[in-house]
Amino acid sequence: MLTLPFFDESHRQFAERLQVFCADKIETAFREADTDPLDAGREAIRLCAAEGLLARLVKTPAPDMRGICLIREALAARSGLADAVFGVQGLGSYPIVLAGSAALRKRYLPRVATGEKIAAFAVTETEAGSDIRSIRTRARAEGSGYVIDGSKTLISNAGIADYYIVFAKIGDASAGEKTRLSAFVVDADTPGLRVARQIPLLAPHPIGDLELQKCRVPGDHRLGEEGDGLKIALATLDRFRPSVGAAACGLAGRALDEAQGHVTRRTQFGHPLSSFQATKFSLADMQTELDAARLLVFRAAWLADSRDGRFTREASTAKLFATEAAQRIVDRAVQLHGGRGVVRGVAVEQLYREVRALRLYEGTSEIQRLIIADHMLM
Ligand SMILES: Cc1cc2nc3c(=O)[nH]c(=O)nc-3n(C[C@H](O)[C@H](O)[C@H](O)COP(=O)(O)OP(=O)(O)OC[C@H]3O[C@@H](n4cnc5c(N)ncnc54)[C@H](O)[C@@H]3O)c2cc1C
Repeated sequence: MLTLPFFDESHRQFAERLQVFCADKIETAFREADTDPLDAGREAIRLCAAEGLLARLVKTPAPDMRGICLIREALAARSGLADAVFGVQGLGSYPIVLAGSAALRKRYLPRVATGEKIAAFAVTETEAGSDIRSIRTRARAEGSGYVIDGSKTLISNAGIADYYIVFAKIGDASAGEKTRLSAFVVDADTPGLRVARQIPLLAPHPIGDLELQKCRVPGDHRLGEEGDGLKIALATLDRFRPSVGAAACGLAGRALDEAQGHVTRRTQFGHPLSSFQATKFSLADMQTELDAARLLVFRAAWLADSRDGRFTREASTAKLFATEAAQRIVDRAVQLHGGRGVVRGVAVEQLYREVRALRLYEGTSEIQRLIIADHMLM
């Protein structure tokens, strides 16, 4: 991976340091079947902060996405949960980096870096998933601030977050007004905001539903102008989608390592599994898909770091291919393990559960295909 052309020497040194940190700290802390997602999420933030990883998320004018992708790949190889929490800390802080006032940045970003503030990004609603534009949460101007009412679902870091980036519409369409989707920083202890429930997932992940009832937010907690919400959401997703692909590569790379180890140790019909041609073909296909995924991921991250313009198509291509490929790679790794592959607690079994959500969050694979095709047809 480090031989890819997209890195400079500092990335190479950083990647080596990450391997040591993740093997020493993340592997031991999280590879357990019955992790409590909230406690584990807080611990992941603590460890990542102590290692200086969160500080990389809040760099202005933008985080170094090759570095962020290296982090997510390394974390995911050891713990899907630690990776997810780290990724959401980025999703929930980049909108402030991008569009927060100087005062807001000063108040939040240093604390995001130290882990004192855990971030979350709240777009999805029961009736507004892929279709972000249809969100119903409302913000109305009152005095010098806003009052927000609505609800959100499937919000990662709900329950451990200290603040949420909440997307809400200003203006009442039913009264014939033009609506303006806008983004706000809402502190978790704001009266009227509550985590309505935690949602158990296939693999441990802190996630839940939010309710906002008459939540008063100061005027300077609005990000950008009224109506900038969609632009902020899409710019944040563009920037972080390659990192979801990187996490997929981390899970897939780990699955491939596990499979390679297993087929050399396990003997059937008097020979190691690795001596069978079918096994070799399987390993070769897994490695090829993983290499291709990494190339797309780091191409997109490199473009994000080096180009002022948009890299939307490349970001979606990386996310689409890497997450779909990772699903196939992890599935093959389970197959190569035989029955042991689905035993609770075996590494590939956990990877199989962890990889599934990546094809859904930050835009499903179908939405990535629509984005890619729309750019082709522009
Ligand atoms: C683990 C996890 C973490 C998440 N974290 C967050 C978070 O932190 N913040 C947040 O705001 N949200 C979060 N989400 C929500 C996530 O972003 C949504 O689940 C996702 O955008 C899809 O929305 P939906 O679930 O409503 O599915 P729907 O939009 O209802 O889609 C259902 C199916 O229809 C397909 N589909 C929809 N529209 C089209 C179309 N036009 N063409 C073709 N197919 C289509 C989809 O691809 C999908 O297969 C998370 C989800 C998961 C699973």
